[in-house]
Amino acid sequence: MTLTSFQPPKRLLMGPGPSDVHDRVLAAMGRTTIGHLDPEFIRLMDQIKAHLRAVFFTDNDLTMPISGPATAGQEATIVNLLEPGDKVVVCVNGVFGGRLAEMARRAGAEVTTVDQDWGRAVDPEALRAELKRVGPVKLVAFVHAETSTGALSDGETLAKIAHEAGAMVLMDTVTSLAGVPVRIDDWGIDACYSGTQKCLSCPPGLSPVTFSKRAQDVMNERQAPVQSWFLDLSLLTGYWSGGAQRAYHHTAPVNALYGLHESLVMILEEGLESVWARHRRCHEGLVAGLEAMGLTMAVPAAERVPELNAVRVPEGVDEAGVRRRLLEDHGIEIGAGLGPLAGKIWRIGLMGQSSRPENVARCLAALETVLQQSGYQVRPGEATAAAEAVAG
Ligand SMILES: *Cc1c(COP(=O)(O)O)cnc(C)c1O
Repeated sequence: MTLTSFQPPKRLLMGPGPSDVHDRVLAAMGRTTIGHLDPEFIRLMDQIKAHLRAVFFTDNDLTMPISGPATAGQEATIVNLLEPGDKVVVCVNGVFGGRLAEMARRAGAEVTTVDQDWGRAVDPEALRAELKRVGPVKLVAFVHAETSTGALSDGETLAKIAHEAGAMVLMDTVTSLAGVPVRIDDWGIDACYSGTQKCLSCPPGLSPVTFSKRAQDVMNERQAPVQSWFLDLSLLTGYWSGGAQRAYHHTAPVNALYGLHESLVMILEEGLESVWARHRRCHEGLVAGLEAMGLTMAVPAAERVPELNAVRVPEGVDEAGVRRRLLEDHGIEIGAGLGPLAGKIWRIGLMGQSSRPENVARCLAALETVLQQSGYQVRPGEATAAAEAVAG
């Protein structure tokens, strides 16, 4: 047994999350812990809710972070909205859509899916046709930015089609929030969950959620109690919205919330429009660099998630070996493909604080070196020059 403190290695996080965490957020999390019923902590909770509303572009009263990873927020939306026998349509174009469908099934819902090739956006016409086929459903659920493939779906159009059919809309914004435009109220999204470790650039472990008035009414009229006590929003609301009369529910992760608060302040200081533009610019630079190396992207240009870039592994190159060299020799983490895309793609994240032109350049330079060592021919410097011409 070695009783020494753990010292994490210095990494540049360019995978599917977590992303790099800014020193300001780490410093905030290192501040002294106060009690979760302290009046000053209530002030922090109120500010977090207000900042989250600004980032989600919503006036939804019911907006708060769930104490748990994004999967906890995902489960919370499903188990609070659905009751046994409810009809649901889930759009599945990757791992996370598949999980939505499975969670809805476990909540006792009758689930049908709109299945899309992995690497493509959800086809709005396929959703329209499925809704016509199955008749009235309670909920349509989809993933805005499918992190497993790098495909971005048109949230606004999918929500419109669902509403035309009378259904409520649940949207996963774990990777999209603060990376690309997400407008909860304008698009009429009824329920939404996100995560802290993607474009919000916090450590993992919290899941911001928001619910419309319609979703709140549906939850208030439930026949069956929510099967999860911990994730029951009627109980959580008493904790997050009770003001001075706040009732104890669980002990909030105090220091993690300091971190979320700081990261939201940083995003709002920079401005959402600037944050989105930075992600777009870095993405365009990275793609220019990868293509200059002769690599090809796995998702069609109009359907790409700027903060999660799926690039095809060239013939004859050892997929896992390249990732290992990038990590061990260059301190850069990128992601592997999942499911049917395992071994076929790399996933290069440009999320939050990781989304900087200097990181694009560093990643491309390292990839050039590693690819060359793997026997793949590149002209050194060409990729970084192409990226710089686009992203600065
Ligand atoms: C990362 C991710 C999740 C799950 O987040 P965890 O924090 O790992 O629970 C869910 N949906 C999408 C789209 C994601 O990218």
